[in-house]
Amino acid sequence: MAAKSEILIVGGGVAGLALATRLGDALGKTGEARITLIDKSFSHVWKPMLHCFAAGTAQNENDRISFMAQASSHHFEFWPGEVSSIDREKREVVLSPFHSSDGAVVLDSRTVEYDALILSIGSCANDFRTDGVTAHCLFIDNLVEANGFNEKFRMELLRAFATNDELDIAIVGGGATGTQLAAELHKALDIVGLHSFGKTPPRLRITLLEAGPRILPAFPESVSEAAQRELARIGVEVRTSAMVSAADEAGFSLKDGTHIPAKLRVWAAGVKAPDVTRGFGNLSLSRSGQILVKPNLQSVDDERIFAMGDCSFIADDPLPPTAQVARQQAHHLARTLPAWMRGKRAVPSCIFRNKGAIIALGNYNGWGTLPGGAVFGGGIFRGLSARLGHLMLYRQHQVELYGLLRGMLSCLADWVDTKVRPSVRLD
Ligand SMILES: Cc1cc2nc3c(=O)[nH]c(=O)nc-3n(C[C@H](O)[C@H](O)[C@H](O)COP(=O)(O)OP(=O)(O)OC[C@H]3O[C@@H](n4cnc5c(N)ncnc54)[C@H](O)[C@@H]3O)c2cc1C
Repeated sequence: MAAKSEILIVGGGVAGLALATRLGDALGKTGEARITLIDKSFSHVWKPMLHCFAAGTAQNENDRISFMAQASSHHFEFWPGEVSSIDREKREVVLSPFHSSDGAVVLDSRTVEYDALILSIGSCANDFRTDGVTAHCLFIDNLVEANGFNEKFRMELLRAFATNDELDIAIVGGGATGTQLAAELHKALDIVGLHSFGKTPPRLRITLLEAGPRILPAFPESVSEAAQRELARIGVEVRTSAMVSAADEAGFSLKDGTHIPAKLRVWAAGVKAPDVTRGFGNLSLSRSGQILVKPNLQSVDDERIFAMGDCSFIADDPLPPTAQVARQQAHHLARTLPAWMRGKRAVPSCIFRNKGAIIALGNYNGWGTLPGGAVFGGGIFRGLSARLGHLMLYRQHQVELYGLLRGMLSCLADWVDTKVRPSVRLD
């Protein structure tokens, strides 16, 4: 491939921003390639924290990383924009017109050329076309939606404070997102209680609906059972084998005829790629719209296109849509793309190494599973160590993007913030 290749990364999430930062430092800095990142928003947030934004327990500017600032310190270009299609013949992506918050068109539809295109646009919840979900449910798939949910949560809390009514919230999906959200909402209310000038906070009635036989199906059964007990202890009602058949303005209907009343309804079940992948130049897709890739993350249809993270699917060896997978895939491409670009070596297969999983239920409890094998033996840890482990994943991500000094300063700034401001959003 010719010098000064154009490497275009679409989506600056867990995988995309890590890759842009590393390739910028490796190839952008020396001028060997132009690295460009496109994202539909201006800043990056660590997606596994979105439930905290939704509950209002994360509200710090420091938790957002500006793409422009990151680009200027790591030798890549950033352009805001939403990719709407790909023209594989011309090797260009098409961006939708860019609008300001009042709806005015700031930038017309544009095209950006590439020599190598890496798609990392993540995923969103899958409503499986269940009746009424689009019209009557909230989602927390990105920061805009999480903040939108928080606005509604605070307003409904205010109403419940004034009327002494209970606030009913129903969450569909007993995976990491729904389970952590249920606990975090409780934590938020506990903190609100500390600032409610002596008034007793309203009762929060949260129902977590899971279609399968247990919550947290990606974890061992013992963790699912312990998490369910912990949720019951803080007052969350968990209903398993509860298949939702429809949503309306008053709650959810279940297949067995039960109606679960809820003022706020959140859909956090299922995972699918954003619908836009259907316009990606006839690339082969999985049933959930993810881009089919070979084990080396190259599209099965086009050697100049790669996909990683939640929006990709390896047909022979499917991996779960987790931050751990997204991160390892980004590191793999950061290591191997430079040699491929220079025409020296094909990109080898990406071998996923399972390092275990961690889940934290607010500041109530947490569980971690260690990988199997002779060293760790697939053990389980819980409590404070798991909660700290969960937090460390975020700090590790920050250090990776910011560098050690800035990462640690950021951690210190967050700690100072907790000493000077309420740790939940109250405005
Ligand atoms: C509430 C919540 C809790 C979670 N908890 C955990 C957890 O505890 N552990 C774990 O491992 N995983 C967890 N996950 C899953 C984890 O967040 C994802 O697996 C991970 O973020 C995937 O990374 P990614 O880079 O593929 O996509 P993302 O991090 O989602 O990034 C996608 C990026 O693409 C951009 N984008 C999307 N469409 C376009 C477009 N058309 N044009 C331009 N840009 C676009 C988006 O703005 C975003 O910046 C959680 C997810 C949620 C929602």
